[in-house]
Formats: sequence, structure tokens, C-alpha cells
Amino acid sequence: SSLLQASSKIYVNEYVRCASTSSAPKIKNFIHGKMVDSQTKDWIELTNPATNEVIGLVPKSTNSEMLAAVESSKEAYSTWSKFSVIQRQQVMFRFQEIIRRNMKNLAMNISKEQGKTVHDAEGSILRGLQVVEACCAVTFLQTGETMHGVARDMDIHSYRVPLGVTAGIAPFNFPAMVPLWMFPVATVCGNTMIMKPSEQDPGACMMLVEMAQEAGLPNGVANVIHGQHEAVTFICDHPDIRAISFVGSDTAGNYIYERGSKNGKRVQCNMGAKNHGVIMPDANKEQALNQLLGAAFGAAGQRCMALSTAIFVGNAKEWVPDLVAKAKKLRVNAGHEPNTDLGPVISKKAKERVLELIESGIKEGAKCLLDGRNVKVPNYPNGNFVGPTILHQVKPNMKCYTEEIFGPVLVSMEADTLDDAINIINSNPYGNGTAIFTTNGATARKFTLDIDVGQIGINVPIPVPLPMFSFTGSRGSFRGDTNFYGRQGINFYTQFKTVTSQWRAEDATPIEVQMTMPT
Ligand code: NAD
Repeated sequence: SSLLQASSKIYVNEYVRCASTSSAPKIKNFIHGKMVDSQTKDWIELTNPATNEVIGLVPKSTNSEMLAAVESSKEAYSTWSKFSVIQRQQVMFRFQEIIRRNMKNLAMNISKEQGKTVHDAEGSILRGLQVVEACCAVTFLQTGETMHGVARDMDIHSYRVPLGVTAGIAPFNFPAMVPLWMFPVATVCGNTMIMKPSEQDPGACMMLVEMAQEAGLPNGVANVIHGQHEAVTFICDHPDIRAISFVGSDTAGNYIYERGSKNGKRVQCNMGAKNHGVIMPDANKEQALNQLLGAAFGAAGQRCMALSTAIFVGNAKEWVPDLVAKAKKLRVNAGHEPNTDLGPVISKKAKERVLELIESGIKEGAKCLLDGRNVKVPNYPNGNFVGPTILHQVKPNMKCYTEEIFGPVLVSMEADTLDDAINIINSNPYGNGTAIFTTNGATARKFTLDIDVGQIGINVPIPVPLPMFSFTGSRGSFRGDTNFYGRQGINFYTQFKTVTSQWRAEDATPIEVQMTMPT
């Protein structure tokens, strides 16, 4: 019946509507259930990566606006944390239904602000939606521990309780999915959360918190502030914020982990990556090359789980020309145009950085088998487009290998044996994801055992775990000790409160004073 109560409201973000007008709308803060105009004088331009038109202005929220968000979150926590677990679960049931209904509009918004294809954006929303669906299992996931009779007439109950006010800081590349890793999990456990979406594409997060409110999240349970470094520092320093979830680059992640932890907060940081795909000569060639292409160039390479490095083992190197031929056929265009394979990168600055890294690879001796630097996209001459690029025979000391490129550039390497490939991967500081393409079970098993990376695909190019599991990036790709979503996500947003109680039948009898530890 709760599903029937949800209205049929459709969310259309104002920037989607206004994108073709000359006036760029100002993005608002979302505080205590209302969209609130910012009083700031400091605005960041929001651009469409396919055209570089300014489609909105993002405020750097003022200190008093950020303080108001914390006050609202504290006030909401005092009541929300006392809602029954079933009431919180019901909100998630309604929320998933509202997201599903608004999938298309969310995807259009993401494509406009972020640049990826509408179809790919829908896929990413679905992955976030699955986290909301998993949150509906909170009635099982938030159970504590209990033991009867630990001593005479004595029992221990460990309750899993929320932390308080929490904060989420999100990157540009998954503007709906990553916020959905954060605020649904935090709030379903009884916390409140202040979101700080990426200033480069905050629209999807704004739409989602409004939807969550329609689903029944009370005012102040999810607030949104905006900005860059100052807003992040505010979150790291405010004493009433108990935990921070961060997803983004190493620079910001290390800063947030160190500053937030120093201030006594629980912090989880998912950071950069360099993911390797190992192609064995016994792999199903067509399938392996197609999967590699999608995982390297999809979303213009701007996925933290993109397979940005291919290692061809032994004779598999003979397949490289076929890979190049396939990559040549990929269609580069604005993300909302039909039949687009890859859209633009997020900004002019990002494009310049990608071009510089390609250039550095060529200077350092890599063979550029496919060069996307001068790609032309007829109807979008001003967009931040880079075509699929393949740098071959790359060596581990080259800058294009040591740095995360985060663009449509596949770095290709050769190895004589599987052990050599494993060595290359284990010597890389990152540990987000990796994949092996093989038809041999023993090879796959050896790879799984010997590789030191948190997420492994066997004939699966982007092994992002479904949310009944957790996102388990490791080594340089993660700081903290409790991962995002799944059981670990519930662990992150809860703490134990353990009650030891004694109920004796002879209650009225006074207990003797005991000065030593019980033996
Ligand atoms: P980013 O670090 O630039 O931005 C992320 C957030 O941090 C934004 O909200 C931004 O405002 C803030 N920020 C940026 N620079 C900051 C600074 N110097 N100090 C404080 N805050 C700062 O990241 P991005 O460019 O938006 O996202 C791309 C990066 O995110 C890539 O490195 C990618 O691998 C990583 N990423 C990782 C995962 C993962 O799960 N491991 C998932 C998605 C993205």
C-alpha cells in the first residue's frame, strides 16, 4: 500500500529545461527539506561538456549556510534515529520506486552535465538504485548480537545503532550512483547526512534528495551543500559531523582521510585507480576484445573501474591490430545523440590533461596505434572530445602508466607469462579492479589467488560487486577499513552499544561490594 501512496510526480531538473536559454539558473542548497537560494557571491560555472555552454551556476555555500545544514541535520537526527526500522525501510521501498519512474530524466540530466551517453547514464543509475533496493534489507542487516546467560542471571545485548550526523563528498563521474552509495545507506541506518556533490555536476544529487523526501525522508535527514575545497574542509572540521564518506581523486581523498581522522571522525575514501585487463592467448578472442573496448572507452574512460591498461600475454599480442581496428569504429558524439559510443570528457582542463599524458607517452617511446587527439565532432566543435586512443608497448616507468589518465586512452603492454603480468599489476600502487580473459579455470584460479587487487573479474571486464556485496577496492585505491555498501556499508554507518544486564530473582537482596574483577 505504501507504494500506491507515492505520487506520480516526475522530476525534471531546471538546468535541463533552461540549457538552451541565455540565463543560467542558479543551483540551490537543499536544507531542511527546501531548496534554498544561496547568498554567496562566489559562483562556479556549470558547463555542458559537449558544448561548453554555461548551463548553471553552482554556489560555494557560505559558512552560515553550511552551519544551517549541520543544525538541520542534528535536529532531524534526534527524531529520525528513533523512527522504527520498519518505517525507515518503508522510505527505501518508496524511494526505489520513485527513482525507477524518473530514470529517463535523471539520465538526461547526467548526460547534459557530465557528458556520458544517456544509455550509459541509465546503467549507472540502475547500479545506484540497486543499493537503495539492498537498503530495504535493513531489517536483517541492522540486527545486533546477543548472548543469554554470560554469567549468573546476566545477559549481553549488542545493539547496532547509528552514529549521528554524517557527510558524503562525491566525484563528477557518477553523479547519481555515488550519492546513492552514500545517503540511502547512511539514512536507512538512522543517521542524517549532508551531501556535497561534485561542483561539476550536482544536478542528479539534487533530484535524488528531493525524490527521497517525497519517499518520506523527513526534513533535514538529507541536506545538500555545495562548493569545493572550503566546503570539504568545513565537513572535515565540524565537530558534530561524525563520519565522512568520500569518493574521488587521491589528492582530495588523502586530504580528507587525514584531516577527518585527525578530527576524530570515521572516514572511508575510495580513490584513484589503474585497472589492468590481462588477455591470455587461450581467451575467447572476439569476446575479450569487445569487452576490453567497452571497459576502456565507455564513459570516455572516466570510470574508476575502467580497464585503462591491457596486458597481452604471449601470443595474445597478435590481437592488438584487431583491437585497434575495432576501436576505430567507435562513434564519438554528444552523449544525448543516438548511437554515440563515447561522449566528451568533463572539462577543458580534463581534456588538456589527457592530451598531455598522450603526448608524454609518445615522447617516452610508446607507439600510438590510434590517436584520438584531433577527433572532430561536426555538430559540437566546442566540446571536450577526445577520440579513442591506444598507446602500445608502454613500460611501467612511463608517465602515461604511472598516472591515472581518466580519459579514453588504453595503455597497452606485453608480458611473456601470466606471472609477469601479475608482477606488473602487483607492483602498481593501486588496487581497485582487474580482469583476466581466459578459458582455462586453473589460470583464472591462480590469478585470483596471486593478485593483490580488491575486485577481480574473470571474463567480466568491470567487476563492480552488486550491493549485496561491498565495493572492495584496496591498496592505493582505498583508505579506511570499512568499504562502501553491502554489509560493510552498514558497519560503516553504525556502531555497537553493548548492554550487560543482570536480573536476579532475589532482586531485593542487596549485592555485596566486590573490589576485584570477577573470576
Ligand atoms: P575530485 O577528487 O577532483 O573531486 C571529488 C570531490 O572532492 C568533489 O566533491 C570535489 O569538490 C572535492 N575536491 C576536489 N579537489 C579537492 C581538494 N583539493 N580538496 C578538497 N576537496 C576537493 O575527483 P573527481 O575528478 O570528481 O573524480 C574523479 C576521480 O574519482 C578519479 O580519480 C576516479 O578514479 C575517482 N573515483 C574513484 C571511485 C572509486 O570507487 N574508487 C569511484 C569514482 C571515482
